Formats: sequence, C-alpha cells, structure tokens
Amino acid sequence: MRCPFCSADDTRVIESRVVEDGEAIRRRRECTSCSRRFTTFERYARVKTIVIKRTGEAEEFDREKIVRGMRAALKNRPVSLAEVDRIVSELEEQLRSMNEVTSTEIGLRILEELRTLDEVGYLRFASVYKNFGGVDDFRREVSEIDDRSFTLRKKEDGGGEA
Ligand SMILES: [Zn+2]
Repeated sequence: MRCPFCSADDTRVIESRVVEDGEAIRRRRECTSCSRRFTTFERYARVKTIVIKRTGEAEEFDREKIVRGMRAALKNRPVSLAEVDRIVSELEEQLRSMNEVTSTEIGLRILEELRTLDEVGYLRFASVYKNFGGVDDFRREVSEIDDRSFTLRKKEDGGGEA
C-alpha cells in the first residue's frame, strides 16, 4: 500500500487488530522510506443485493424492512428481538453472495425460519406475505404446516458473477 505522505510503494504493517466486533481489521503501517505512520481498515465489501418484487420493481435489500415485518408477525409472541436479529443477519449473510434475489425467495426463507420458531408468527407472516384472502386460505396453510417441505435454492441460473 502506497504511503500517503511520500507516495513510496513500500510500507510495512507494524500492528494489526480486529475491530468492530470482528467486522474489520485495523492496520497500523509504517512507510519504509519516510518512516511516517498511517492507519488502514480492511472491511467486507458490501454487496448491495437487489430485490425483485412481485410487481417486477427492483429495490435495494432493506434489512429494516424485513425486521419490521417479522416483528409485526411476532408481536406478543415469546420470540426475542435478538432471535429476529439473528435470522435477518443470517439472511443477509446468504444474500451477500447474490446480486439479485426475488422478494418471494426472501419470504420463503423467513417463513422457513419462523415455521420452526413460532407457529403463530409463521401464520401471521404467511398471511401477509401470501395475501391470504380469507379464513379458508388460513385453514389450508395450517393444515399444510406439518407436511410442507420448501424447496429453497440459490438462484444460480444465468451468468453468475458477471
Ligand atoms: Zn513515506
């Protein structure tokens, strides 16, 4: 890494430290030419995943939106905010490698988590997500809970990493 003071190409790392809860590495560097020191940070390159909605509109993945939806579904349920946060963080982690995902797929992934976590929350989320028209839809969903198997797979058709 080039020295910001004298532009020499050769600098050496004199100290490395993991910071920001393991999300970044802070490095103290020293220029071998002018001996001045500077600091660099290494972080994940944030991939902005694009979500394709059912209407065909595209928008950037919005973590807060997912959290809000889940919290609404889990209102007064014995599921902690930390648990919601864990699920959304895992989802985010999965999306990191994807440039594009459909809102349907995100919904299915969350439903799969909720199904094992809290059945009431699952049904509430499903009713919003699947636009239940009435009580029959709800009954059908309940009867399907036990023997459902989601087929979730990464959307890897097409060019992949372009
Ligand atoms: Zn220098």
